[in-house]
Amino acid sequence: MEQVKVSLITGDGIGPEISRATRRIIDSSSAKIDWEIVETNPRQEDGDVIIDRMISSIEETSVGLKGPITTPIGSGYSSLTVALRKKLNLYANVRPVKKLLGLGPNFQAGDVDLVTVRENTEGLYSGIEHEIAGEYAESIKLVTRKGSEKIARFAFEYAKSEEREKVTAIHKANILKQSDGLFLDTARGISRDYPGIKLDEKIVDNMAMQLILHPEDYEILLAPNLYGDILSDLSAGLIGGLGVAPGGNFGDDLVVFEAVHGSAPDIAGQNVANPLGLLRSGIMMLNHVDQPEAAGEIEAAVDKVLEEREVLTPDLGGNSTTTELTDEIIGYL
Ligand code: ATP
Repeated sequence: MEQVKVSLITGDGIGPEISRATRRIIDSSSAKIDWEIVETNPRQEDGDVIIDRMISSIEETSVGLKGPITTPIGSGYSSLTVALRKKLNLYANVRPVKKLLGLGPNFQAGDVDLVTVRENTEGLYSGIEHEIAGEYAESIKLVTRKGSEKIARFAFEYAKSEEREKVTAIHKANILKQSDGLFLDTARGISRDYPGIKLDEKIVDNMAMQLILHPEDYEILLAPNLYGDILSDLSAGLIGGLGVAPGGNFGDDLVVFEAVHGSAPDIAGQNVANPLGLLRSGIMMLNHVDQPEAAGEIEAAVDKVLEEREVLTPDLGGNSTTTELTDEIIGYL
């Protein structure tokens, strides 16, 4: 098996701790990864410098595994992570949520196995905002037919490749008749090319309730940017919280995998962050670069540690450190 080059963006906050843990685990498996390490320091560097360094590495390797990054205040960016997704046109954000052994909230979540496919470049997240005379503020929700078509096709292709039977399009088209109307209408059009996959439609508020009541009924959630952001965190809560939820941002040629959570400054530097969100993003990365055996080995080791319930970080109800959890996983490889 050939070595595959991957950009490892270490990030800040808990980023360096969890990216070190993730790299140690992947390097202890049979994976063949040649890491190109990209460090970022938002306290000392300008946002543009950070963005340019990340982009030039990812354009060279085509695949990134990224830790969370805090956006420098006054950098001119509302979020460096959102800017990176836009600049590389990583239009599809994929967040799978599957019931993990031994984990879950205080109620029975059933056999959750769903994937949010979130539009990643437009909608209310475009950040087209202004205030008027200190009295009014306006945000523009920009939805394009082209953007809606790309994400709907991605969701249906993803459903096909994963042998799923249902895509649920999420909207509020009863109120936002133009913007969400265009998103929904486009999804209906694209679904006609996939006769084997059912298109289900849900209004976003009802969807939030259904995910709590019957999460096992859903397979692929096709969502505009903001609804996808909110519902994917809700979904992460169904399987044990932000600390374990992975994700990937896909463009036509480039892909960047990253955990759902942010840089968690409240626990940074304490060696207590849960590395599983980034590690499980790394498992997605290994499958993407055609190293499924290594991905399977790591997944099995994580399952054993979760089943055993002896070495868990505080967010999962344990009292172990990031390093202890990392060592425990490596012990099962
Ligand atoms: P962002 O806007 O970048 O998503 P945020 O401040 O909304 O950031 P997070 O940084 O994800 O959110 O943190 C939310 C909460 O979850 C914090 O209390 C944080 O400590 C906790 N948290 C996030 N990631 C982890 C992790 N990997 N391990 C343990 N706790 C985490």
